[in-house]
Amino acid sequence: MMGNVIYLEGQPEHTALSMSNGLTDTLISALLLNGSQLAKTDQEKRLIVWLAEKDQSAVGMGTVGFSVLDMPWDRNTLEQNRSFLRRTVEQAKMRRGWELLDYQPSEELLLPSLEKFLFLIAQLKQADIQPDCLDAWLAEAAENDPVRCGFPRCPKHHTLLTVFGCQICNHELFR
Ligand SMILES: [Zn+2]
Repeated sequence: MMGNVIYLEGQPEHTALSMSNGLTDTLISALLLNGSQLAKTDQEKRLIVWLAEKDQSAVGMGTVGFSVLDMPWDRNTLEQNRSFLRRTVEQAKMRRGWELLDYQPSEELLLPSLEKFLFLIAQLKQADIQPDCLDAWLAEAAENDPVRCGFPRCPKHHTLLTVFGCQICNHELFR
């Protein structure tokens, strides 16, 4: 099946964010551009890198759906990180950074998708966060993974890199 779904367990089905492959790339790019700008702590940077790893040019089209519960949360900083992502989405909705994309995102698709993503994040409960999800993800990262070596950035987009490179550069090369 083509497309990706972002969801949260236990929420009504209509809250799931079901997107085409193209819209998924655009959503991730919009979060990446703004989150990279706003992230100050390592934990904020990690959340953005994790999202940017949902890079379909690198891992395959239609294979990047996820539950927001699987993001590498830290129970101790959930509230700060939720508010960081709220600011990231709000800035993305103001079309910040869109000029760095080599195409014009569809506002009527992207804006409601950002809103739905935010809604899912808002429903997360601290008690549901798996205590080891952050450590497990970090343990999987190789020594030269950007999350373990100072969070390098793309010189062109100023975005945080992943083990696959820059999600936006990869998208440009792929098309
Ligand atoms: Zn780039």
